[in-house]
Amino acid sequence: MAIIGIDLGTTNSAMAMYKDGEAEIILNGNDQRTTASAFQLKPNGEEVIGSSAKKGAASMPRHTVLEVKRKMGGEEEVQVGARTYKPEEISSKILRYLKKSAEEKLGEPVTEAVITVPAYFTDAQRKSTKIAGELAGLRVERIINEPTAAALAFCHDNLDEDQFILVYDLGGGTFDVSLVELFDGVIEVKSSTGDNFLGGTDFDETIIKLIKDKFLKANGFPMEEAAQDANMLYYMLKEAAENAKIELSTQVETDISLPFIGLKDNLPVSFIGQLTRIEFENAIREKVESTIIKINETLEEAAISKDQVSEILMVGGSTRIPLVRGYVEKAFGKKVRTDINPDEVVATGAAVQAALKSGEIDSAVGLVAIDVCPYTLGIEIVNKVNNQIIPGYFDPIIRKNSAIPVTERKTYNTVSDNQTSVNVKVYQGEGRFVSENQLVSDELHVEGIPPNAAGQEEVEISFSYDINGIIQISAVIVSTGHKVTQVIQSQQGVMSAKEKRRSMERMEQEGLDADLYEGMKKAIHNAEKMMDDCSPEDRTRIERILADIETAVAAEDNAALRKLDEQLLDLLIELV
Ligand code: AMP
Repeated sequence: MAIIGIDLGTTNSAMAMYKDGEAEIILNGNDQRTTASAFQLKPNGEEVIGSSAKKGAASMPRHTVLEVKRKMGGEEEVQVGARTYKPEEISSKILRYLKKSAEEKLGEPVTEAVITVPAYFTDAQRKSTKIAGELAGLRVERIINEPTAAALAFCHDNLDEDQFILVYDLGGGTFDVSLVELFDGVIEVKSSTGDNFLGGTDFDETIIKLIKDKFLKANGFPMEEAAQDANMLYYMLKEAAENAKIELSTQVETDISLPFIGLKDNLPVSFIGQLTRIEFENAIREKVESTIIKINETLEEAAISKDQVSEILMVGGSTRIPLVRGYVEKAFGKKVRTDINPDEVVATGAAVQAALKSGEIDSAVGLVAIDVCPYTLGIEIVNKVNNQIIPGYFDPIIRKNSAIPVTERKTYNTVSDNQTSVNVKVYQGEGRFVSENQLVSDELHVEGIPPNAAGQEEVEISFSYDINGIIQISAVIVSTGHKVTQVIQSQQGVMSAKEKRRSMERMEQEGLDADLYEGMKKAIHNAEKMMDDCSPEDRTRIERILADIETAVAAEDNAALRKLDEQLLDLLIELV
């Protein structure tokens, strides 16, 4: 059975499979190599995924979701028409579509996948991604880091050379940079850093701001005053901004046209203007410079000089921006690789990982990827300063860039007399104080410490970070041997097991309904075609069923629809 590789991107997703010594992109249901990560729920209950959903965002803003990856691992729910979803559920709709497309193209069931995530994704974001896969009916074999996947794809084709490679991954929503060593077929990530909130979307926002400023200057009032619907205006601007941005990668100037924004004093309002590449570059320069700072950090952490880096892989659609390429090439004083496809290399790398897992790539080839934990993990401790107990200090347990899987232990003493319990709070980040870092979990409670004088009892805390980036913590009361273990699970922003079970049922049902609509649309199309050539009596029979279908759709009566679908198919078979 096939294990596929999936790059679940902020803006676009892609999938690939390894066959006959090569990872190949699998086309989606519309024969496209990438799929826009967009979900639309039409008022009649029909679900649309991909570029049609993305294109429809401006006309149906309340029924469309773009860039849900940015919400993964967060608390925010997503409203789509009359339904409310968790971010995992929206991602699962995209994954389900990819799974279905792959099954059609490959002609076999697809039940397992390797899914990629940004290297800098947190524990909560990784778990949400895994859950999204499971809700889509996929066993998520592995979660791997996007830059590591890109390195795997590249190294698979360049196994003979030992070298240092820098992967610069600037996609739709996230930025990662990883320094990778390829030695004897082993791909070892030496250091990795990034920004979970930097990508093409931010450049779109920058252009939206430039358009609004130009409009205000030309008209003397803000665009919003003319718009009838703020969401609609936003998506209209977003589409125009992304188009302009892409055009400016090859042109030095682009026209921006918003023919109808709305009405002001009962007169139609529009915007026609130009944006130059220079204007765009000046507006995004600071953000691009921040990525160069991250490159320097990554090299410093790996103790590697720029001269030692032999290849620079540019991954993610935003690396097509000339300013981005220019900055990276200037920083290294050499050309970046342009022969890899920035939109596809992550998915093909995921397929290589899937093939390593399934045995399709012989382990004798020696291709192995060793990844790192991209941030420091530790707990909150108190410190005694001038005999005063001060809380809020961060004590690292697993250091940033430790090779994974990794387990580390540290022993802590009680701080007060007769202390019988401790609440272990896990944080990630590089700050000295927990307030500067991100809370991962505050769920581990250790009870039953024997009453004793302050400092006399010891609790050993152990952290494990596995190859999927999932954290497990445990605590042992040293004097009694009592152990409490926990995979950090029900943390903020991640579905609990119960929520997941419930959602699984809902997604399955909605999936079946979506399939019903899709099948029905095809059947209606065939019926309409057939009506031209059949007898008046048969035409009336078809028309009757189509009218009933319309009524059932309006009433959202899926049980009736299922029956009518069968009736229509039977009739079409009879009439063929
Ligand atoms: P990815 O997540 O790798 O699919 O990257 C998607 C991002 O790349 C989106 O923000 C796109 O707008 C952006 N992108 C794609 N092509 C280009 C291009 N030619 N110039 C600038 N940005 C692009």
